[in-house]
Amino acid sequence: MLYRLVTFVFGLLVTGLAGWLFDGMVGAMVGAALGAIFWFLMDLRRGNRLIRWLRDPDARTAPTMFGLWGEAADRCRRLLRAREQQVLESESRLQAFLAAIQASPNGVVILDGQGLIEWCNQTAAAHLGLDPQRDLRQQIGNLVRDPVFAAYYAGNDYGHEVTMAGRDSRPQRPVELSLQLHPYGEGRLLLLTRDVTATALADAMRRDFVANVSHEIRTPLTVLSGFVETLQSLHLDEAERVRYLALMATQAERMQTLVNDLLTLSRLEGTPPPGFSEWASARDLSAQCEEEARALSAMRHPAPESPQRLGFSVVPGLALAGAASELRSALTNLVTNAVRYTPAGGRIDVEWQRLPDGKVEFSVADTGPGIAPEHLPRLSERFYRVDRSRSRESGGTGLGLAIAKHVAQRHGGELRIASTPGQGSRFSIVFPASRVRTDDAMVPGDAWPATETAERSRP
Ligand code: ADP
Repeated sequence: MLYRLVTFVFGLLVTGLAGWLFDGMVGAMVGAALGAIFWFLMDLRRGNRLIRWLRDPDARTAPTMFGLWGEAADRCRRLLRAREQQVLESESRLQAFLAAIQASPNGVVILDGQGLIEWCNQTAAAHLGLDPQRDLRQQIGNLVRDPVFAAYYAGNDYGHEVTMAGRDSRPQRPVELSLQLHPYGEGRLLLLTRDVTATALADAMRRDFVANVSHEIRTPLTVLSGFVETLQSLHLDEAERVRYLALMATQAERMQTLVNDLLTLSRLEGTPPPGFSEWASARDLSAQCEEEARALSAMRHPAPESPQRLGFSVVPGLALAGAASELRSALTNLVTNAVRYTPAGGRIDVEWQRLPDGKVEFSVADTGPGIAPEHLPRLSERFYRVDRSRSRESGGTGLGLAIAKHVAQRHGGELRIASTPGQGSRFSIVFPASRVRTDDAMVPGDAWPATETAERSRP
């Protein structure tokens, strides 16, 4: 300010002095007046420059001036720089925030007070079929037209979530979405979407499972209590009593088998997969399978029925890393299934085989009734049966293949099923090479060097 006053006075003095030299006192006054006008015009020009720059300020093109206007321009420039820096920082914070919401597994839609979409992440776009760019400023009610959401949106009661079918939901592959609106700010809404297909499926499976277990237990229980009532109320002769008790024992055994299978499944689900410290010999596993299969076959097809022909390949030196009890349960389930479903006179072949990629396959092939292709993908589901009455009649629980599949997966393996109706089935478990040990150095793809086949049919 002082500088400005000094330059103004100095300017007047100089122009006044020049005027005085030129024309005495009058010249001095005219000179000073001209100096003041010039100073005023220069001042006006500099002020104008600053105003013009301030109309569209850019810190890089700030005018460079001296004096008061120069300082004003400099301060404006610094303020502008600070503001730009703040804007950049809040912009980058906003981007980081949006990137975090973008990465969320849940869908997020921000709605303004009128229900217009202000922003949505990719997940919400995929869930609701929105285009994150094109659908900005569109009414959410016009874009999500599911009646469940429409009623919820119009109802103004957002304290609970609603579920509706996803956009890509198909009868074969249902997709279920959960949506909830959260009011915030002044009339604004946050719409959160979640894919709850897996949870809904798990809930449905749990409900089915409980219903199935109850049903499976109720049937033998009803029969048992019927027999108990009969024994209590009727005077039966000894032969009849023995027959009734035998029937009761069968039902009790059925319930016991079911409970045992359920416990096996829950153990499989509740324990970590077996490691590599325990080794189960294939010879022992085969021997146990063979023993059970022959006993069952003899029981199911007593003379004079034509017997089943059972063939077991025995592999010396082969061992699998894993839990022997689990492996035994899985393999015997496959073998006993073959015995149960193959009619008298049929043939069952149980083999170990090394595959070209070093894996080992345990297979059970039978000449039974076979299974239609539409059942194959669901066979290992709990309680899934092709023929319910046949499974029950043969003492099945509907859990055998579920156990086999679970055990296979826990050992890094895979349950494979191939079947042709009318010709027979082949169930196998393929174990990874990492779980296989052989005493001799075998080349993958080779046949086992000393496969002994024990084929015996009951006389
Ligand atoms: P189940 O106790 O009823 O045998 P599983 O889980 O062991 O239950 O098998 C599921 C279904 O698969 C059986 O009900 C049966 O319909 C079919 N199945 C299993 N093994 C065979 C087989 N070897 N031949 C024909 N059908 C089979």
